Formats: sequence, C-alpha cells, structure tokens
Amino acid sequence: MLDDVVKDKYERPILSLRITITNRCNENCIYCHHDGMVSSKDEMTPDEIYTICKIAKKIGVRKIRLSGGDPLVRKDIVEIVEKIASLDFKDISLTTNGVLLEKYAKDLKDAGLDRINVSLDTLNPDTYKFVTKMDYLNEVKTGILNAVEVGLYPVKINMVIMKDINQNEVKDMFEFCRENNMVLQLIELIESENCDEDKFNAEYHYPLDSIENKLSDMADDVRERKFMQGRKKYYINDGEIEIVRPVDNSKFCANCSRLRITPDGKIKPCLLRNDNLVELISHIRNGESEEKLEEIFIRGIDKREPFNN
Ligand code: SAM
Repeated sequence: MLDDVVKDKYERPILSLRITITNRCNENCIYCHHDGMVSSKDEMTPDEIYTICKIAKKIGVRKIRLSGGDPLVRKDIVEIVEKIASLDFKDISLTTNGVLLEKYAKDLKDAGLDRINVSLDTLNPDTYKFVTKMDYLNEVKTGILNAVEVGLYPVKINMVIMKDINQNEVKDMFEFCRENNMVLQLIELIESENCDEDKFNAEYHYPLDSIENKLSDMADDVRERKFMQGRKKYYINDGEIEIVRPVDNSKFCANCSRLRITPDGKIKPCLLRNDNLVELISHIRNGESEEKLEEIFIRGIDKREPFNN
C-alpha cells in the first residue's frame, strides 16, 4: 500500500509535509517557538511553495499542512492554496490562530483547502489576553464557526495545556467543540526558545497523564493514529479529543511520518531538533532540476533520527 512512498532509514514512511510559509504573526503567544526570522520579502513565493509540493508529491507525500507564524497574514494565502490544490493531494490543511479566519474561510475552502486547525487555548477573555497578548477572542470564535459553516471539515481546535492557566478548562473546551462538531486536540507544552527554558517549563509545563487518565475512564472508545506520531484519540459522547505529546511520548518519534519546511526554505527532518536542517530554497531559486531537488529531499529524509534513539 505504501510502495510509492519514500521511507527513512528507520522504515518510517514520509506521508506528510508541514510548510511554514511565514513567521510573521498577528499574535504574540507566551509559548511560541518562533521558527527563525525571515523578512516578508524573503518568504517563499507561491510558485516556490508549489515547486516544493510538486517534489513532495513525486516522492509519495500524501498530505500538506501550511503553518506559520500565522499563514493567514500572507495576502497571497488563497493563491498558495489554489496552486497546491492543483497537485491533487489527499489532504491540504492549515493551522491558524483564527484571527483572520472569518475573512478567509470561504475563499480557502473554494481554493481547495480541505480542513483547518485553529489554535484556541481558552474561552476565558482574560486568559486569552494573557496567553496571546492580544484581544481577538470574539473574532477567533466567529472565524471558527465560519470555518465549520463553509465545510472545512473537521475543524480541529488546538489547545496547548499550561499549568495554572488553562488545565481546568478542558471540559468547557470539549463542550464547545462537541456542540459545534469539532475535534479538540490537547497539546503538551514544549520548551520555547523565546524564554529561559527551565523557568518556562517549571512555570507552565503540565504533564498530560492526569488528563489522559480521566479521558480513559470516560471514553466510549480509544484509538491510536498509527502514522500520526501514535497520537491517541478518545471518543466521548459523540465528541472527539486527540492528544499530542511530543515531549513525554516515545511513540511520537517512532510513528512520525512528517517532514517540515522552515520559513527560510530549509528541510527540517525532526520537530524537536534544529541541528540537522537541509538547505532547499536556494537550489530552487538557482533553477536546479526537479531530479536534483528530489535528491535534496531524500538527503533531508536520510537525516531523520528518532529523538530518543
Ligand atoms: N499561528 C498559527 C497558530 O496559532 O495555530 C500557526 C503556528 S503555531 C506555531 C502552530 C501550533 O503550534 C499552534 O497550535 C500552537 O498552539 C502550537 N505551539 C506553539 N508553540 C508551542 C509550544 N511551545 N508548545 C506546544 N505547542 C506550541
């Protein structure tokens, strides 16, 4: 079934590509791990992003995810999606803070976007302001409902769990998602390069075990996403909660099938490492052949190492 897919040296198939198309953002979240700084004039163009996706498609990648910064701050976001959609991937998705979603949801859907993840850590206005340093909660909620309405299905809500900030809000958030036919994803906080890491972790890191134990007790069904870092999904009263645990989960690496592209056009073989990046965009800008670009992709894939190996 996966004969046409390139596998890394640990036999992990490369099925999805996450492209960070900008690191500009209209929020300033306390935990954000900014992926380097790239000025808007140096960002990858829609054609360059298309070329990257074309090579990815050739080596068997099935799914494209666009991220940022916030991808919706790019004025050409609809054009980018449209170009990628012409390559006929199984799935094109995008992760956004939702601030500009009301404006773009329908156009993105029409351009060929399949689904969307929206980051929303809280429904409490004060907590929202504390976490994002902005006051866009109402705009984000409207944008989310708009995304549901236009059929960006399923809308997934990304909630990063932080100690003494929002760990008690899981139930409310789950109800909000269930009522609106959305999936809730609980994300374990990872170290932020922005801050003094030890202090940041001690202050905000909240292991997800206790939450998962409760979910286990309540769940009607539990499943595991084999090629998505072994993520667990809990089904409760027709609602769905998925757990993303990059830090305390040996399965995360073992079941990782995702390659990444940084905003300055490098292949990033592993989420939790920055010391094995492979230069890509300058080769595209120099007009290298598709065969050569494919070789560079394979070089990136060869550098993939399980973090806990
Ligand atoms: N701006 C977009 C957004 O807010 O979704 C896309 C970029 S953001 C980096 C992508 C996802 O990473 C968001 O769901 C965000 O909550 C999550 N994230 C960012 N920093 C994180 C951290 N230190 N630990 C865990 N998740 C983090």
